[in-house]
This record gives sequence, structure tokens and C-alpha cells, in this order.
Amino acid sequence: MSDLALFDLFERLSSLMRIWFRQQPLLADIQPIQLSALLYLARCNRYSNTPLAVTEYLGLTKGTVSQSLKALEAKGLLVKQQDLQDKRRVHLQLTDQARELVATALPPAFFSQATGQMGAAANQLETLLREMLTGIQRQQDVASFGLCKTCRFHREVDGGPFCGLTDEPLGAPDVELICREHQV
Ligand code: SF4
Repeated sequence: MSDLALFDLFERLSSLMRIWFRQQPLLADIQPIQLSALLYLARCNRYSNTPLAVTEYLGLTKGTVSQSLKALEAKGLLVKQQDLQDKRRVHLQLTDQARELVATALPPAFFSQATGQMGAAANQLETLLREMLTGIQRQQDVASFGLCKTCRFHREVDGGPFCGLTDEPLGAPDVELICREHQV
């Protein structure tokens, strides 16, 4: 397969995804950037739910992200909470309404159907795409924002997950979340 053919496939898939999002009545009044921020915040851990992390993840300007976060706040989809240790830091928490919205809308039904039809090949595809993403992130020297369970700092302590970078215990669901501090 040529590079261009592979690129065409990614482009077509992302185009179908965008069309699908636009057609969802529940997501109708959420702009694409707001939706991307919402999806990131629904998947990231407690070290990564800050305005700066959203800005880094989306690769947009601080001003653009700040406007999108304000709009999500005005819609009742997120609230800001001050960090208990560092008063200058703010965490962005999705409201129950936002979590319900994300859980209802994702993953798109057509996507689940397609991966279901692929069976075990879908797992192979996930592995290959992860490999490709890691390679691109290394080349471009950008943060990985990977899953906690694949991080080099991830440990098991007293039978539970533990972060070797922050020296803090993690909850069981944390291992499946995206982290800004993730390193391969
Ligand atoms: S183990 Fe890695 S990915 Fe998990 S919380 Fe710690 S730094 Fe983040």
C-alpha cells in the first residue's frame, strides 16, 4: 500500500466521523473544538484535566481553547475546580450531564459495528495504529498522551496500580485513562 492510499483511508474515516457527529441531535449545538475538548476531558486522568493540558492535546492556541472551555461551562457541561494543593491550578470536571452525553454518543454505532465485524483483526489494527502513532509522536517530538497502563512509570504496589512519577496510588479505572505525563 502507498503512503497516499493509507492517508486517503484516514482522511475518509475522519470525514465520516465528522459527518456522524454533525448528525447527532444531542451534539448539535456543540462546536467541533468544544466537542474535541469534551471528548479529551472524558478520557483523561486527574493529572491531565487542566486548561493547559487541553491546549497541548488539541494543539491549539490558549485563546481558542479558553473560549471553547467557557462555552462548555456556559452549557453546563463542565465546572472548574481549584486544585487542593496548588491554588493557582484549576481542574476541569465534566458534569453528570456531559458524562451522560459522551456515554450515549460514543463510540458511534457504525464504528462499533465495523470493529465487531472485523473480530480479532480489530485488535491487530489497534496494535498497528498505536505503533504508528507512537512512531509519529517520536518523530514530531510531541507528548504521547498515552494510556496510563502503557506508561513506563506505571507500577503495581500492594496489589493496586501506582504512579511511579507522582508517587501516588491510582484507582483501578485510572489505568485506562489518558495522561499528559505518560512516557513510553
Ligand atoms: S503512571 Fe504514567 S500515565 Fe499513569 S499517572 Fe503516572 S505518569 Fe501518568
